[in-house]
Parts: sequence; structure tokens; C-alpha cells
Amino acid sequence: MKLPGIKKMSFSKTRKRKVLRNNSIKKRDYGKNLSRCTRCGGRKGGKIGRYGLNICRRCFREVAQDLGFTKYR
Ligand SMILES: [Zn+2]
Repeated sequence: MKLPGIKKMSFSKTRKRKVLRNNSIKKRDYGKNLSRCTRCGGRKGGKIGRYGLNICRRCFREVAQDLGFTKYR
């Protein structure tokens, strides 16, 4: 079992199971936490759903120019 956020795990088998149970993200059937960024798969906030993008704001900053968005200053 692999968890996002936990990079190194050096626990015993029992301890590992306990850590996974208490720190893993809750499986949901619905809700805003279910929607992820289609580019990076992040679960954090700041998602842009407009124009059917469904990517997070961080990815948007990277790909906006390729998509045809221009920056006004
Ligand atoms: Zn993203």
C-alpha cells in the first residue's frame, strides 16, 4: 500500500498497518474531495472547472499559454 505524502516508512508490520489506517485518505463516493486534477492528480483545492478544464491552479499556470490563454497586465 502506498500513500501520498508519506515517503519513507520504516515501521514494523503492525505499526505500519496502524499508520496506514489512521493516516490514509478516506474513500468517498461523492463530494468535492473526490474530484482531482486531471494533470497532476492532486487532491488539493484550487481547481479550475471552467471551460471543462478540471485542472488545479498550479497546473493551469504551467499549461495556460499552450491552451491559448493570454496574460493581461
Ligand atoms: Zn494539477
